[in-house]
Amino acid sequence: MLRSIYTLFFVVVLFQFASAQDYRWQQRVEYTMDVKLDVTTHKITGTQKLVYFNNSKDTLSKVYYHLHWNAFQPGSMMDVRSRSLPDPDGRVTDRISKLAESETGYQKIISLKQDGKDVTTHVDGTILIVELKKPILPNTKTVFDMKFESQVPIQIRRSGRNSREGIAYTMTQWYPKLAEYDFQGWHINQYVAREFHGVWGDFDVKLTLDPRFVVASTGKIQNPEKVGYGYEKAGTSVQRPNGELTWHFKAKDVIDFAWAADPEYKHDIIRVPDGPTIHLFHQPGEKTTESWSKLPEYAVKHFQFMNKFYGKYPYDTYSIIQGGDGGMEYPMCTMITGERPLNSLVGVMAHEASHSWYQAVLASNESMYAWFDEGYTDYSSSESEASMFGKPIADSHKGAYGGYFALVKRNLQEPMSTLSDHFNTNFGYGVSAYSMGAVYLHQMRYIIGEDNFYKGMQRYYNTWKMRHPEPIDFLRVMEKTSGLQLKWYANYWLQTTKRIDYGVKSAVEEAGATTVTLERVGQMPMPIDLVITYKDGTKELFYIPLNETFGSKPVEDKTMARTDLTEWYWTNPTYTFKVNKPLAGISLIEIDPQARMADIVKDNNKFDPAALNLKPAEPVQPKN
Ligand SMILES: [Zn+2]
Repeated sequence: MLRSIYTLFFVVVLFQFASAQDYRWQQRVEYTMDVKLDVTTHKITGTQKLVYFNNSKDTLSKVYYHLHWNAFQPGSMMDVRSRSLPDPDGRVTDRISKLAESETGYQKIISLKQDGKDVTTHVDGTILIVELKKPILPNTKTVFDMKFESQVPIQIRRSGRNSREGIAYTMTQWYPKLAEYDFQGWHINQYVAREFHGVWGDFDVKLTLDPRFVVASTGKIQNPEKVGYGYEKAGTSVQRPNGELTWHFKAKDVIDFAWAADPEYKHDIIRVPDGPTIHLFHQPGEKTTESWSKLPEYAVKHFQFMNKFYGKYPYDTYSIIQGGDGGMEYPMCTMITGERPLNSLVGVMAHEASHSWYQAVLASNESMYAWFDEGYTDYSSSESEASMFGKPIADSHKGAYGGYFALVKRNLQEPMSTLSDHFNTNFGYGVSAYSMGAVYLHQMRYIIGEDNFYKGMQRYYNTWKMRHPEPIDFLRVMEKTSGLQLKWYANYWLQTTKRIDYGVKSAVEEAGATTVTLERVGQMPMPIDLVITYKDGTKELFYIPLNETFGSKPVEDKTMARTDLTEWYWTNPTYTFKVNKPLAGISLIEIDPQARMADIVKDNNKFDPAALNLKPAEPVQPKN
């Protein structure tokens, strides 16, 4: 009897373990690339050996690669999309349509073998479709050997040569990159504008080019004494060849690999205490030298802030590289424009470096959930920036709320769950991904409380790093950390365009007490923090949980008295409670004075009895 109970127990445990594994399998890649860049023709020729581990339960008869640079050709989807949008990215507009043949980008596959045998391929825009000779069975690996040739496009967006700031090569999205396959299937979105995804794995990359060029890259240099340029140990004499120079980099457990090259790069190095070595590369000049000389100390502060509040950066190195345009995140490095005053330079560095936590280490799927990466990056880097410049951290998310209110006012809101490239406007995409992503977190903090929030953010990072989390994974961590039910919140904020608007409807005095009635004007329900300021200057917080959460947040501000009221059922448009003070003893009733709820009508949040011509015992209507 006992034995059979034990057997049953083990079967149940094994079954649960197996089903969790089934759902969370993860593909793996090992790239070995040897490429040559001709700096006169701007062409790359290279070989790529890719070991692909199929850890799924599925047999794969096809695989797909991204050929991102094919987007930089007149008539490409990226070109047409940019010319059709009402508010195209100013860096792209119609520039792709005007590229001469020698200025376009492409990636051509010269040959591709699977386990030594040729396979059939065809190209559809920026996607290479590979019909396999031999299907890849579950839990097996296969080896692809590829020869490819690419032309580096004129810098339009992110990748390319001869950027406006005069950087010779920004080599991003530069190699044929295997698409990710997970429990949702293949992720083979065409390169139309933005946001990427990748398979976890290791990169071993050899780059051969003119020895006058300095290379900055993802990963760690393997031959520092051969290449020099600041990579070598101090005092080492570097003997560079007269001909071409080969740079060797390796990166482990990353989803992508990017690099840049320029003959004028100045290479600075600084070490974060208890953190990575940071490499900085810029072209010295009137618009760069001063701000870049101060950037390293801010980079250190930023990594320390992120390590403390959002989890520990796991790699040995990080490179901040003056690159093509704007700022763009890659694993273990970023490309940013460099001709900026210090504040702006620190801002873009902080944003892109924060991506290391969300785009690089957690690596959620940006093309499906841009907000899940951009919003979290915006949120954490805004706090770090405020801290670096001595500004109140509590105010650092106001800009994000401003963005959301502007979107509502312009009537351009679409559900945040819209695929990144499919928003009707760039403005709508930008606000949804960055601002509303940040507001999602700040409202989460309002709902679950200050302490739970930071605990949850760290727990999320530590639980899901290097595992491609889904939005539900984050939500579950926040639910477990807070003990509150939060699915209603995620659904309203991420999947719908319903809005928050609460108001104080009336305050009526009866027998020396005041009855306050609140109303939910908007469609989205929230728990309520309401603060009453009494005539003697003291304040009291009235906390009204939403019934959907099945619990209350802990006290956040120990300096203010808090009264917990009964829950507000989301179905009920109004809510009434009693304050044991006469109306004449109250100077202000205010919903959410910290403005952490994105309440779209603020006028009705405050109720000032003195501002109204009071007639006791009659309901008083606040302004709407
Ligand atoms: Zn970003």
